[in-house]
Amino acid sequence: MSASTQPAVDGWFATDGSGQPYLIGAKCHHCGTYVFPPRANNCPNPGCDGDELAQVPLSRRGTLWSYTENRYAPPPPYPSPDPFEPFAVAAVELADEGLIVLGKVVEGTLAADLKVGMEMELTTMPLYVDDDGVERIVHAWRIAR
Ligand SMILES: [Zn+2]
Repeated sequence: MSASTQPAVDGWFATDGSGQPYLIGAKCHHCGTYVFPPRANNCPNPGCDGDELAQVPLSRRGTLWSYTENRYAPPPPYPSPDPFEPFAVAAVELADEGLIVLGKVVEGTLAADLKVGMEMELTTMPLYVDDDGVERIVHAWRIAR
C-alpha cells in the first residue's frame, strides 16, 4: 500500500506477498472458535471460558449467505460519496471457518446481480478520502472469478 492509501480501520485486513488482501480474524486457543473483527480476549463461544485469542488469516473466499442493497445515503457523520450511489452489502460465509463476514460489495454489482450460495472473494475498495488526501480503503466482496 502506498502512503496515499490506508485502511479505514487498522488491523482488519492485510495483504499477502502476491498483493492479495485477506481478512485478519482471531481464533480461540481453547475451542477453535473464530471471530471477526479480531480481538485478543473473550472467546465468543458461550460454552467456552477461553480468554486468549490468536490472530489468524481468514479464507479469502466464501459463499454468499445473505445480502441487501442500500439505496439511501447514510446520515452524517458517516462518509458518503456525493452524489450517492446505491451499493450492495453482502454477508459471506467463509469457506474454512464458517464465520459470516459483512462487507460492501464492489461498485457495479448490485442486489440484482447476486444470488444466495454464490461464491464470493475478498477484495478492497476505496471508502472515502480523508482530510489529508489519503484514500481510505475497506475490505469488500466481489463475485468470485
Ligand atoms: Zn473458545
